[in-house]
Amino acid sequence: VRHHVETDIAHKTILLGDSGVGKTSLLVQFDTGKFQAGSFSATVGIGFTNKVVMVDDTKVKLQIWDTAGQERFRSVTHAYYRDAHALLLLYDVTNKNSFDNIRAWLGEIKEYAQDDVVIMLLGNKCDSQSSERMVRREDGERIARENTVAFMETSAKTGQNVELAFIAIARELKARK
Ligand code: GDP
Ligand code: MG
Repeated sequence: VRHHVETDIAHKTILLGDSGVGKTSLLVQFDTGKFQAGSFSATVGIGFTNKVVMVDDTKVKLQIWDTAGQERFRSVTHAYYRDAHALLLLYDVTNKNSFDNIRAWLGEIKEYAQDDVVIMLLGNKCDSQSSERMVRREDGERIARENTVAFMETSAKTGQNVELAFIAIARELKARK
């Protein structure tokens, strides 16, 4: 029905970040509520998952893309960024290198994504023991603040903040309509 078309638009949402930070696990946790230990092969997660998130009384449709494999070669194509409405940029709190690469990811995003793209930075694997943690929450908060993007720590393993992260994205997308 014609007057429903607008609310039916699925917002293209892309998971970005270094290989191994937990992008596929985060999407699987959000989609199924489950965590499967062990890496997903590069072929798993190609394509997208459609999810509907309720924001107040409105359905916000997300078409969530997982960047399986490509991140290793930095060949996430620029066309892929260009029509994205939202980006979830992940690092792994137990992997300093994945955090150090956030600046480069943000640089690429600024260059190739739409100016009004909704960005959320996620420090994933926050369930990890403090002895394993290499990135403090404050460090994540600081880089998010410096780049005026939202920030959360998440765990694809326990599910902590996973739904909240997607709800926050959906809320922001709705507000920007
Ligand atoms: P991707 O390459 O970014 O898609 O990362 P994967 O989803 O394949 O996850 C890489 C590895 O990290 C796997 O062994 C996962 O089981 C593990 N992993 C992912 N998310 C979490 C998390 O939140 N906590 C913990 N402890 N391990 C995680
Ligand atoms: Mg993956």
